[in-house]
Amino acid sequence: MNVQGSLREQEKLEWSRRAAENKPLRRIRCPRCGFYLMDVYGSDHCLVRVKCRKCKFNETIDTALFRTVRPGRRKTYGREL
Ligand SMILES: [Zn+2]
Repeated sequence: MNVQGSLREQEKLEWSRRAAENKPLRRIRCPRCGFYLMDVYGSDHCLVRVKCRKCKFNETIDTALFRTVRPGRRKTYGREL
């Protein structure tokens, strides 16, 4: 087992939660069929392997390029309750 990983698991979770608080939420959907895949925080480039359960899409995507565009909505980060 990874000693460093197991010892600092709680700290890593805490850090991740705080880091996500100030970042815009990005909903990643399948590029092919639009099926919901995951939530990503922030606009940084991050490569993830996605596997769609619906259409079997299986590719590596850059989360910065697959942002969800919500038509009819302006920038309302932090104002939605
Ligand atoms: Zn799909």
